[in-house]
Amino acid sequence: MSEAMQFYSTNRGVPPVNLAQALLQGQAGDRGLFLPERFPWFKPDSLAALKGLPYREVAAAILRTYSAGVFDDETTRALCDDAYDFDVPLECVTGRRYLMRLDRGPTASFKDFAARMMARWMSVLMRNEDGELVILTATSGDTGSAVAHAYYGVDRVKVVVLFPPAEVSQRQRKQMTTLGGNVTTIAVDGKFDDCQAMVKRAFADPELQAIRLTSANSINIGRLLPQSVYYVYAYVNLADALVGEPIAICVPSGNFGDMMGAVIARRMGVPIERIVVATNANDEVPTFLRTGEYRKIVPSRVCISNAMNVGHPSNLARLVDLYGGWMDETGALREPADLNAMRCDLYAVSISDDETRATIRDAYEQHQIVLEPHGAVGWAGLLRFFEDHPAEADRLAVSVETAHPAKFPEEIQATIGVDPELPPSLEGLEQRTEHFEQMPAEYEPFRKLLLEKFAGR
Ligand SMILES: *Cc1c(COP(=O)(O)O)cnc(C)c1O
Repeated sequence: MSEAMQFYSTNRGVPPVNLAQALLQGQAGDRGLFLPERFPWFKPDSLAALKGLPYREVAAAILRTYSAGVFDDETTRALCDDAYDFDVPLECVTGRRYLMRLDRGPTASFKDFAARMMARWMSVLMRNEDGELVILTATSGDTGSAVAHAYYGVDRVKVVVLFPPAEVSQRQRKQMTTLGGNVTTIAVDGKFDDCQAMVKRAFADPELQAIRLTSANSINIGRLLPQSVYYVYAYVNLADALVGEPIAICVPSGNFGDMMGAVIARRMGVPIERIVVATNANDEVPTFLRTGEYRKIVPSRVCISNAMNVGHPSNLARLVDLYGGWMDETGALREPADLNAMRCDLYAVSISDDETRATIRDAYEQHQIVLEPHGAVGWAGLLRFFEDHPAEADRLAVSVETAHPAKFPEEIQATIGVDPELPPSLEGLEQRTEHFEQMPAEYEPFRKLLLEKFAGR
């Protein structure tokens, strides 16, 4: 087998590791985030060769460049075939402006793409490991259900999901609590920030060392690599002239994992002229790009695009690293990044809830397409970019729709009077039985539950 790609920590306090170790550890031992030491370069004719292939084959062609030496090609192909058995529609909205719908997976959000691949990678790795792996995840809705579904029934892996009951929709909750088996869900009487703080404390708790804990949040590099594939897929299938035709990509962003997928695709050779980053009122990154000063938003602002209510995106540390700077795990900028290069490649914009609703309305009236709040933030961001850059009006552009409208029926009904059609993956949810634990937003009862369940104490 060829030599395995190495992954370094953004804090540079530990030696580089291969993909297997990066996946199983989640976060690096020095609390930095893993990044590949280099990005494989796809020349224009290698990209051209991917045009028209099924998504699962594009995924295998991209992911093998990172996983060779850890997983053989046959395994990679088999895992991709199994993970990607759903559609990835590229819908023309108007002219050369497209919407990529990433909502056809089993939990109807884009998080299925990465969660399904990461679960399959880890399940292969765990065949050769002792004991069991416990995955802790705090969720504001979509991560929990995507991770729980992806790992459901995987041998030697247990999943614990913490969620704030008041902040997730009924449908989102049922997607997590009706599985059972190796999935434990805990309703924490608090906010998403409380759930995340409990998970972080558990990772740092020496008393829990007997349990092998890891993360499935987008601090895990296993969440990012699969998210580069759909940008490659969109480009090769939409570009007229493959040799260098530039494209603009717009990503509605919260923790910036999805956007990092676009950054990675760019570094692999996809001529993404501009990555448009659209946030809701949590505008710490647009402000950072404008002023060069970074301030977290605490507590995060509550917006209708609830999966993007993030006041300090963990993946910013990766972005800063790729632009030559250093941001530590507390969000402190220890070394400045090349802001001019960042401003050249990225266009960041914050979209209010009012604009989000107006965009849902306009898209429906003008183009007969139904957007949900996250995708609408993205579409609004793309329109803002074109307003600011009239000379680019004919540029090929893709905005991503990150969830299925049926996950947010109340908002869409109230805005355009339409009841979004339920995708098959969400059918029958109402009838299933829920199981979940309930807990105050305190660390002690959580620690006790982990010890009882996984350390036999
Ligand atoms: C998680 C999520 C996002 C934000 O993605 P990040 O990678 O955290 O930026 C956007 N839309 C939906 C529907 C999500 O679930």
